[in-house]
Amino acid sequence: MAKSASIAASAALLVRQPGALEVVQVMYDAPLLHEVRVRTAAAGLCHSDLAFLQGVRVHPLPLVPGHEGSGIVEAVGDGVATLRPGDHVVVCASTACGTCRSCTRGLPWLCVGRALLDRTPTELPRLTLDARPVHQFRGLSTFAEVMLVHERAVTRVDAKVPLDIAALLGCAVVTGAGSVINQRLEPDCSIAVIGCGGVGLNLLAATRGVAARRVIAVDLHPEKLERARRYGASDTVDASRTDVTAAVLDLEPGGVDHVFEVVGSSATLRQAFDLLAPGGTAYMVGVATDGVEVSLPMDRMLFGRTVRGLYMGSTVPSRDVPRYAQSYLDGELDLDGLVSHRVPLAMIGDAYAAMETGVDARTLVVF
Ligand SMILES: [Zn+2]
Ligand SMILES: [Zn+2]
Repeated sequence: MAKSASIAASAALLVRQPGALEVVQVMYDAPLLHEVRVRTAAAGLCHSDLAFLQGVRVHPLPLVPGHEGSGIVEAVGDGVATLRPGDHVVVCASTACGTCRSCTRGLPWLCVGRALLDRTPTELPRLTLDARPVHQFRGLSTFAEVMLVHERAVTRVDAKVPLDIAALLGCAVVTGAGSVINQRLEPDCSIAVIGCGGVGLNLLAATRGVAARRVIAVDLHPEKLERARRYGASDTVDASRTDVTAAVLDLEPGGVDHVFEVVGSSATLRQAFDLLAPGGTAYMVGVATDGVEVSLPMDRMLFGRTVRGLYMGSTVPSRDVPRYAQSYLDGELDLDGLVSHRVPLAMIGDAYAAMETGVDARTLVVF
């Protein structure tokens, strides 16, 4: 492969095989047509990366993971009209090609044409190591000093939002808040949220706009339930000590109208279904391991109970990211309280190990 003068090395987290994380210098090409190079400011640790890091979900390797990030535009390729060097931006995995069937049906968050936003096989790969291609995660790869992405993956944010906090807007906030705001829940409904990490807390915060009768938070960790109360839960259920179904039905004897599953396991999705009132909906927000199935009682389903998958909060980044940034600046959305740790890239392995114990809110890698 010919090396062009525009190729530059940057430190990135590399996964050559599941479970093995190393920080190495990866080569980044210059931005081509409709591409943007972003100097990374911060990247958030999200559970959905963890499954790929561990090999529980399969992704082509070698891979630079990470899908929640912020930074400053450093260079733009031809055809980029709306972004300039110096812009503060967020990258988001809810990227849309604009031309596929999902996009033209008005469901861009379900885009099936994202491959159109990657480079073609005849172009140089965006990222290389020893002249071999390195794969990007969701076209982003935020765990690196630099991101080389399609302009459609980038949303400009108000420079008044601190850049590290802005990273949260890329996944935790849009996925959590969007799962509520973009569903238009009716006032006086009852809501339950199973799983109170970074996404779950944003989901709870968004329920404040619903005027719900009751908002029940369920988690295995008392620390997380404590935080859940600050973010909008009216009641909490400690799943490590209590039978969740009995405890929730004790609070809401007829069942719950909207139950959000933010864990990504078949056991908690089944639990979400078992909490439903007739006509209620269980939303699958958490990302499950490949191939996992769930079984549901058909007699209960007949009474209008629905299970619905929500991908990344049905987010349209250009519409939603600025809205959440403004809520933060207006003091309505507490994003500072969501960050429990800030670590350098070299400490990311330890930070993911800590995440598995489960008590933290969000850890940010800061550059
Ligand atoms: Zn995520
Ligand atoms: Zn599309």
